[in-house]
Amino acid sequence: MKVYAIPLRNRFRGITVREGVLLPGPAGWGEFCPFADYSDAESLPWLHAALEASETGWPAPVRDRVEVNTTVPVVGAEKAYELVRASGCRTAKVKVADPRSSLTDDCDRVAAVRDALGPAGAVRIDANMAWDVDTAVRAIIDLDKAAGGLEYAEQPCPTIDDLAAVRRRVPVRIAADESIRRAEDPLKVAVAGAADIAVLKVAPLGGVRRALEVAEACGLPCVVSSAVETSVGLAAGLALAGALPELEFACGLGTISLLEGDVCASPLSPVDGYLPVPRQAPEPTDAYPASAEVRAAWEARLDRVRGLS
Ligand SMILES: [Mg+2]
Repeated sequence: MKVYAIPLRNRFRGITVREGVLLPGPAGWGEFCPFADYSDAESLPWLHAALEASETGWPAPVRDRVEVNTTVPVVGAEKAYELVRASGCRTAKVKVADPRSSLTDDCDRVAAVRDALGPAGAVRIDANMAWDVDTAVRAIIDLDKAAGGLEYAEQPCPTIDDLAAVRRRVPVRIAADESIRRAEDPLKVAVAGAADIAVLKVAPLGGVRRALEVAEACGLPCVVSSAVETSVGLAAGLALAGALPELEFACGLGTISLLEGDVCASPLSPVDGYLPVPRQAPEPTDAYPASAEVRAAWEARLDRVRGLS
């Protein structure tokens, strides 16, 4: 077992260092890296996903590569333009509605991203539940104009009812992210008319097989996203994206560049906007070892979560 701590290039979800555990097993390596604010009970699906990778392996894929989006953090317009140009991706997801950024800043960032992608590219936004219904409607309409058309708006509001209300009032598709992984029944999102697209993450859903069941149950087009894992965890996301019967949109798995480095010698970095679908996770090295104190904390956390299963 390896415990890593890798600095992030930009602050993300309020954290500056990504930490987690890499578990070896007969089928390869799995990654257990619930964020610090997740309870032990909420971390249990993350353990199931890690054990699926290390002990069972993944279902056979139906495609061998996956188009990915680049992610634009809360940065100025010029920096956003540079990041998108450097990514080689045709789709960009832009973080908006951050407390440090006004709607005008968000519109400028989104417009710069459109400039960088050109008219054939796709611009999507992610508000991470930050808005109420009226704010979301106003912001999405403005951002849609600034972007010269948005591909979709991800999780503008916290609740399913609010998503449904926004969806009725804007000409932009709505994607559900937090609503899918927090719902006891992801089917509710579809039945409530709350979203056009479901964002799936392997670890919080409890593994590739469980995520495939969620995809089938909700009946919506799916986008697979990472939880900002190392290449070990990203491989599981790619296994899901590779196994979904339909895959209409670029996936949010091109996130290794959000970390300062990787635990694997050949990181899963997109080439020309694509990543390969691996049969198992790449072998990690001993890069970015956590301090003894951090390692002890993760060992204790893993023991507690294992005790729940
Ligand atoms: Mg999201």
